[in-house]
Amino acid sequence: MKAFVFIFLLVGLSFVSQAQLATYRTTLLMGSRFDLTVVAATEAEGNAYIDTAMAEITRIEKLISDWDPTSQTSGINRNAGIRPVKVDKELIDLIQRSIAISKLTDGAFDISYASMDKIWKFDGSMTAMPSPEEIQASVERAGYEKIILDLDSQTVFLSEKGMKIGFGAIGKGYAADKAKQLLMEKGVVAGIMNASGDMNTWGKQPDGTDWMVAITNPMNKDNAFGILPLKQGAVVTSGDYEKFVEFNGVRYGHIINPKTGYPATGIISVTIFAVSAELADALATAVFVLGTEVGLDRINQLPDVECIIVDAQGKIYTSKHITINEK
Ligand code: ADP
Ligand code: MG
Repeated sequence: MKAFVFIFLLVGLSFVSQAQLATYRTTLLMGSRFDLTVVAATEAEGNAYIDTAMAEITRIEKLISDWDPTSQTSGINRNAGIRPVKVDKELIDLIQRSIAISKLTDGAFDISYASMDKIWKFDGSMTAMPSPEEIQASVERAGYEKIILDLDSQTVFLSEKGMKIGFGAIGKGYAADKAKQLLMEKGVVAGIMNASGDMNTWGKQPDGTDWMVAITNPMNKDNAFGILPLKQGAVVTSGDYEKFVEFNGVRYGHIINPKTGYPATGIISVTIFAVSAELADALATAVFVLGTEVGLDRINQLPDVECIIVDAQGKIYTSKHITINEK
C-alpha cells in the first residue's frame, strides 16, 4: 500500500512540474527595486504569490524602517539615551543577529552606524564635507556594544543620546529571506526574490535547470564575470558605484567605516554567496569596510560563504572556492 502511494505521488509531482511556469514582477519596495519571480501552475496563481511576497516585504519595511516615524525602529531611535522600548520578537531577533555579525566582523558591520547618516547623505542634499568635529561626534555615538537588549522583557535600549540604528545594510536581505520562506511554506516550489541585487533563490526553473545569476563586473557593466548556477542560496552585491557623493574630485560611497566615520575606500564592489541573503547582505557591507585582505581572510574562515571583491584599481580577488574567468 505504501509503495503504491509513493509511486502515485511521484507521478503526480512530475505532472505538476511539467505544467509550471515562471511569473515575474518588478516593483518598488523599501525604497528599492524588487524583482520577484515565482514558479506556479498558472500565471494567476503566480501573481497571487507575488502579492503575498509584496505584502510580507511591506510588513517588514513597516517594522524596520528608520525613516518611517511610526515604525518600532524609529521608536527605539527616538528613545536613545532615554528609555528601553518594547518591540516585537522579530525585531529584537534581527537586532540580536545584527550584533552577532558586528562581533564577527570586528564592528565593520554595525547597525548603530546610523548616527552617521545624519552627516553623510546620499540623496543629493549634501553640499560640503562634514567637519572633523561632526565626524568625531558621530563616531562617538556609534557602537553596537551600546545597544542593550533585554530578551526577557523584550526591550531595546540605545544607551546614548543621539544614537541611532538602521538596517540599510541587512534589511533588504532579510526581506528577501522572509518572502522566500513564506512562499516556501505556502508550497511554492521555486522562485527568486531579488531585492536590488540581494538575491535569494530556491528550487529550479520550470524546465528543471538551476537558476542562473550573472555577476557583473563593475569596471565594465556590459561584461559579466560569468553566469553561475545558484542552488538554494543567496548572492548579494554591494557597490559604491550607485550611491555616492563627490568633493574635490574624491568619491565618497555610502558604506561608512563606523570606527573612522568616513566612507570606506579601496573597494568598489563586493559579491557574497551564502545560504541566506541576510547574512550575505551584512557581510558584503562588512567586507567593504574591512578591506580586501582582512575581508577575504574573514570570509575564508566562514563555512558556506564565498566572495568576489573588485578593488579600486579594478583588480579582482576571490575567496578559496571560487574561480572566475576574467575577460
Ligand atoms: P546596497 O544598499 O547597495 O545594497 P549595502 O547592503 O552595502 O548596499 O548597504 C549600504 C547601506 O547600509 C548604507 O546605505 C547605509 O544605510 C548602511 N550602512 C553604511 N555603512 C554601514 C556599516 N558600516 N554597517 C552597517 N550598515 C551600514
Ligand atoms: Mg549589505
